[in-house]
Amino acid sequence: MTAYQPTPDFAASLDAQDPLRSFRDQFHLPPGPDGQPSSYLCGNSLGLQPKTARAAVEREFAAWEERGVEGHFHGTSPWMHYHEFLTKASARLVGARPVEVVVMNNLTTNLHLLLISFYRPTLTRYKVLMEGGAFPSDQYALESQVRLHGLAPEEAIVELLPRPGEYTLRTADIEARIAELGDSLATVIIGGVNYYTGQAFDMAAITKAGHAVGALVGFDLAHAAGNLALHLHDWDVDFACWCTYKYLNSGPGGTSGIYVHERFANRPDLPRLAGWWGHDPADRFQMKKGFRPMAGAAGWQLSNAQIFPMAIHRAALAVVEEAGGMAALRRKSEQLTAYLEFLLRRLQLPATTLEIITPADPAARGAQLSVLVHRNGRALFDYLAGQGIIADWREPNVIRLAPVPLYNSFRDVQRAGAAIEKWAAQAE
Ligand SMILES: *Cc1c(COP(=O)(O)O)cnc(C)c1O
Repeated sequence: MTAYQPTPDFAASLDAQDPLRSFRDQFHLPPGPDGQPSSYLCGNSLGLQPKTARAAVEREFAAWEERGVEGHFHGTSPWMHYHEFLTKASARLVGARPVEVVVMNNLTTNLHLLLISFYRPTLTRYKVLMEGGAFPSDQYALESQVRLHGLAPEEAIVELLPRPGEYTLRTADIEARIAELGDSLATVIIGGVNYYTGQAFDMAAITKAGHAVGALVGFDLAHAAGNLALHLHDWDVDFACWCTYKYLNSGPGGTSGIYVHERFANRPDLPRLAGWWGHDPADRFQMKKGFRPMAGAAGWQLSNAQIFPMAIHRAALAVVEEAGGMAALRRKSEQLTAYLEFLLRRLQLPATTLEIITPADPAARGAQLSVLVHRNGRALFDYLAGQGIIADWREPNVIRLAPVPLYNSFRDVQRAGAAIEKWAAQAE
């Protein structure tokens, strides 16, 4: 284990040893105030643009220009099959079988489509367990789903909260809560990585605990896809969805992916909202009555593929694959985050000034440290921006710093540490 040092030279030496260092050149890095590339530690909010993205979209513009409607059937990537071109890489990304994933729509839309199928409350089994302080869209989605079934959110939704004085949840407490809810629990839906604290949950353990009481278990992987090495199939997760514009660099408002475990692949009886793109392709164009879903996750599709966002996503996934997939990315990610943690801890700031609320255990976090700034947090955030360090601000007082392995360097992290040190010295 290297003894870390806070100097630019030391960071540069880590960069020199980094097998993924060349991938930085495959992205457009926004310039900071001095015109130099900023230290962009904000990939958890919006990932940077792969340089291949523009050409990927332009190829589809050209196909549209040259072929019009025939672009659906001809050319190197016929639009009718476009979503299929994303399936294999998406399956590898989340540790699933190809039949278990499909790319479609946007994240919150997909969360709803999955909950329609996998939150089926009965008179006695009607509760849904989620983490307290979940991303607001997930809270609203759950609340509205519960109401859709004529239930009251206060009665049906159970929120997991950390113990007093703690910021994150203990796996044992989650398991105990699930056991306690027992056969009143219909569904567990948790963010694989909490957007605010950066806590990565033990998805295998939570799934096992949920299944032990007969509940279905799903995850919103918005902050986990492209961040953690996921093994959804082996973990036996029932369903999941993710967006592609955070760690997957697929552009603002980009498309989304879903996972549905293979055991539901041939369950046309499962209630779902249907559309023609989920219908058996053999007679999709017969325009007949009677929905027959395709096998697997594909059977949850509604609409024909959104070619432009998917073209970006395809280019972005290719970069992930070229880098060696999530195992390679995660190795570097753990080092980047550990180095950032070292740089912050060595400042020995009192917890009343600055406190890391993300778990210290590398297995319980991804590429993010959330820093609670007790006084003048917004001022620190603005100071960092002035230094060309792009972080992410969450009300009321958290700065999220996310060094991501594809385009961040150890030098980026070192710059952030040095800027925080300077700010702390002048704030005293
Ligand atoms: C980013 C994020 C969203 C955003 O949802 P969209 O439908 O893509 O706008 C929802 N949930 C979580 C947990 C997120 O992190």
